[in-house]
Amino acid sequence: MRHEPRVLVVEDEPAIAELLAINLRHNGFRVTWAMDSEAAQRELDAVLPEVILLDWMLPGESGLMLAKRWRAQARTKAIPIIMLTARGDEVDRVAGLDAGADDYISKPFSVKEMLARVRAVLRRRTPEQAEGSITIGALLLDAATYRVSYNEQMLKLGPTEFKLLHYLMTHAERVHTRSKLLDRVWGDHVFIEERTVDVHVKRLRESLGPQAGLMIETVRGAGYRLTAQVDLRSAASGTALAELDES
Ligand code: CA
Repeated sequence: MRHEPRVLVVEDEPAIAELLAINLRHNGFRVTWAMDSEAAQRELDAVLPEVILLDWMLPGESGLMLAKRWRAQARTKAIPIIMLTARGDEVDRVAGLDAGADDYISKPFSVKEMLARVRAVLRRRTPEQAEGSITIGALLLDAATYRVSYNEQMLKLGPTEFKLLHYLMTHAERVHTRSKLLDRVWGDHVFIEERTVDVHVKRLRESLGPQAGLMIETVRGAGYRLTAQVDLRSAASGTALAELDES
């Protein structure tokens, strides 16, 4: 039987909860709905979900407080949390991420984007993808054999481009600053300028070709991101996640 990841939706507005639940179920997720913090805690005590969609504004305890509490508890701290915020307020986003949320969805949201973000946090938390082969969209990287292909066409990458792509694919759907990429991909090379990253990203895009190259996004003023959602690249909520990834 196919594995259906469990999603806990914590949302006090029935219309939004229903929109989330219907679309998640339609896409192979098992959904439980909690209307407030107490119900959410009861659900968590009973069974652990694989992802939590958590509304910020709840009656009683806020989503922010819940995120903080769940992050602090051993039993729940590894569950990805995606916060739902009414407005794309940057201060809110930072506060939410500081509280331990993994990602954000701003209301009103597109269903497609919501599903993409849920899948992205699930991918990130799947440990076996750190080694072996990783597939994102039509792009496949096999770390064991050093092979990269797109739509089953083999691609040629230099060693630095390979390492860069490997890092981006294992940490997809989030934004990485140039200094972070230098640190994670190049290691402790203090003499390398941040511009070096741009040079290698350019080469990587060229090696990937016109289609797969689009998966490497430049996020203005922030850095780079690899995304499967090429058609969402201009979505307003995307760029706002820029400086937030310091995990
Ligand atoms: Ca609400």
